[in-house]
Amino acid sequence: MTTASKPVRTRFAPSPTGYLHLGGARTALYSWAFARHFGGTFVLRIEDTDLERSTPEAVQAIIEGMEWLGLTHDEGPFYQMQRMDRYREVVAQMLSEGTAYHCYSSPEEVEAMRERMRAAGEKPRYDGTWRPEEGKTLPAVPADRKPVVRFKNPLDGEVSWDDFVKGTITIGNKELDDLVIARPDGTPTYNFCVAVDDWDMEISHVLRGDDHVNNTPRQINILRAIGAPLPLYGHLPMILGSDGQKMSKRKDAVNVMEYPAQGYLPEAILNYLARLGWSHGDDEVFSMEQVTAWFDGTHLSNSAAQFNIEKLNWLNNHYIKQADNERLATLAQPRMLAAGAVFEGAPALPAVLALMKERTNTVNELADAAMLFYRTPQPDAALLAQHLTDAVKPALAQFAERCATVEWTKEALAAMIKEVLAANTLKMPLLAMPLRLIVTGQLQTPAIDAVLQIFGRDAILARLAKFL
Ligand code: GLU
Repeated sequence: MTTASKPVRTRFAPSPTGYLHLGGARTALYSWAFARHFGGTFVLRIEDTDLERSTPEAVQAIIEGMEWLGLTHDEGPFYQMQRMDRYREVVAQMLSEGTAYHCYSSPEEVEAMRERMRAAGEKPRYDGTWRPEEGKTLPAVPADRKPVVRFKNPLDGEVSWDDFVKGTITIGNKELDDLVIARPDGTPTYNFCVAVDDWDMEISHVLRGDDHVNNTPRQINILRAIGAPLPLYGHLPMILGSDGQKMSKRKDAVNVMEYPAQGYLPEAILNYLARLGWSHGDDEVFSMEQVTAWFDGTHLSNSAAQFNIEKLNWLNNHYIKQADNERLATLAQPRMLAAGAVFEGAPALPAVLALMKERTNTVNELADAAMLFYRTPQPDAALLAQHLTDAVKPALAQFAERCATVEWTKEALAAMIKEVLAANTLKMPLLAMPLRLIVTGQLQTPAIDAVLQIFGRDAILARLAKFL
């Protein structure tokens, strides 16, 4: 996958036309992990030459997404718009070396030639009117017309590369047009800029989406023409939506930054994306240290991956269980405050989250579940009437009395509850349900002894007193 003599340099080269989407994040992750694995360099390049669609907000969103994921770049961000002089320089060099030429065909003429070829059942391409050849006389240069610059693509032979995801790919040069590399106003075009950048940035391995497979032979030909070494290419199959169709923001959260908003941890997203298109044996859970130790460009899948929210939820639950409770508290707190949580005089949030996190898929779910400790309970009157019956009241009074002196540990509370139940010949739910209602306002809570313990003696006594 790599040659000892050449330092590994990868790049992530997003076009800033929107947010960082999952597919882009996976490309960034793989390029980053590959560079880390070989002790190489990971470059961030912003391909912002499409002036109509590129925005500074999108650049910001992409950088923010990368930062949230922790995919730190070593060089850049380089902006293509700031490299125009360099592209012009290479265009001029190619013109002088004869690997590119001025073409004065008007857009209408080019369209007409394409039309003729289509009609003749051929693949539409530029017919080479202005392509200089030995012994060929070119037409007279039209007055007042600015030329485009076309790349002199080889006429015969083929372009072949050993794609490290897809295997060998071969395209005949006959399939390729004499690509326009500079427009009449001198601005360079997409494939040309990518080739020059990969050369200047000494990129050794290009990992990108397989929507770029068609660009690769063009870029290889340009790289050859300018005397640049070729990077190795790996084209990643796309990520399909949960329904097996193209991903769309209507159905799935495509924007990476929707995930923190929904309560996903970056390590869950990274783990999920790492496995979505790459494998290490049967492993499903791995840290980024393991990914960088193992990610050597092999075991990349050649078939499209399908997004599966259940699997992501399972991973997120795993990482929530592993996460430091103080960190979870920092993440959960803003949502809880917005929902009216009162933290003053209430149990410490990290301890509450530790109690509740076992079965929650997202930090948002966890925050919502934890609210029961941070709002004044308002038990529903009908439920109270149903559960706080005359038969239970004496037991509850006894319970309250013993609460004043019992050792305030989960174990001691559990033992005390058992004794009160036995003394009153009651079964657990008959006491636990009204207790839950009084203490939290709801019937569903974690184990009652744990809930009592976390609230603390004073809070429990105060809440009970209102109902006795
Ligand atoms: N700018 C391209 C994109 O966002 C990627 C180009 C490349 O990786 O070569 O799809």
